[in-house]
Amino acid sequence: MEEFKKILITGGAGFIGGALIRNLLINTESVILNIDKFGYASDLSGINSTNYAQTRHKHLKINLVNKNDIDQALKTFQPNLIIHLAAESHVDRSISNPLSFIDSNILGTFNLLESSRNYWENLNLEKKNIFRFHHVSTDEVFGSLKKNDFFNEKSRYSPRSPYSASKACSDHLVRSWHHTYGLPIVITNCSNNYGPYQFPEKLIPLTILKALNGDAIPIYGDGSNERDWLYVEDHVNAIIKTLTFANIGETYCIGGNEIKSNLEVAEYICKILDEFVPKETPYKNLISFVKDRPGHDQRYAIKSSKIKGELKWEPTYNFENGLRETINWYLKNLKWCKTVMKNSGYKGTRLGI
Ligand code: NAD
Repeated sequence: MEEFKKILITGGAGFIGGALIRNLLINTESVILNIDKFGYASDLSGINSTNYAQTRHKHLKINLVNKNDIDQALKTFQPNLIIHLAAESHVDRSISNPLSFIDSNILGTFNLLESSRNYWENLNLEKKNIFRFHHVSTDEVFGSLKKNDFFNEKSRYSPRSPYSASKACSDHLVRSWHHTYGLPIVITNCSNNYGPYQFPEKLIPLTILKALNGDAIPIYGDGSNERDWLYVEDHVNAIIKTLTFANIGETYCIGGNEIKSNLEVAEYICKILDEFVPKETPYKNLISFVKDRPGHDQRYAIKSSKIKGELKWEPTYNFENGLRETINWYLKNLKWCKTVMKNSGYKGTRLGI
């Protein structure tokens, strides 16, 4: 990692990007330029809570649809490494407003690749050899699995929502910029992340907040859809392992090996809340089944053997530990939840607490 003295991160005001920047500020001496359009889910308070944010983290409001702004940022900052996380990321929003996913995830990635290629091609040989473009993607690009099946790096792309199709397209673009132009890339496809600072529209924080409010906890369909849950710190450590050890052009699948149905996730949360903040009736009584999401994928699960074998990465959190940490964090940070929801105009969760 020492060679990456200047790191440009896209989407660093989001959930995973924020966790990655916090880790890099604490564990490296790199200077970070965070470019983000500062959309509804963006927030810098986690990054600003670190001691190094003032000196080694800069942020610029840039929408990746504006290529000139990216060119200018690269020219001025001169990064050795680009980590691309910026994306519209919520499947439900991709169903109601697919265009913003095409803009950010496809056009945004294309612009970033073209700017990066132009920048990289004009570097001197030494800097050119160090430079790396790391693309963060999702297991959703592989489609939906049958019971007991797993995705791996050889799985066929078969995206089925506007979100996953736009991310699949971004993966194809990144890979093709490597094969056609030689851009030094690595791609990681990870499973569902959870942990502190996740915007309260996603399943785990949404369930925690609904339960605390005594509101119905909505579960799509019969709740049997399965996801492989990865604690965000474990994901960040996997990204750092790949930055340090992966060969150019490689792809790694990253999963927590904690496959749970949505109903199980809600029940786990309710059980922990019964312990942490007991009420007269168990929280699970609030679980309420709602009309299924259109085209809802049944199962995602990842075999992480490649990254475990080649890069010696292992998740350190099991679901129970990660969830306890997460619930504790939300209980202590209800004010943060209120603020981000107010700033974004999001009204999906009432926070009367
Ligand atoms: P997030 O929605 O919390 O953050 C994404 C950030 O990207 C936001 O701050 C947003 O403003 C920014 N962004 C979006 N479009 C942009 C644009 N056009 N220009 C500049 N900035 C833009 O998402 P997250 O959960 O942190 O996800 C980060 C990445 O990880 C995404 O690429 C996502 O596809 C991928 N991923 C997420 C998960 C998960 O469970 N959260 C799982 C697998 C992969």
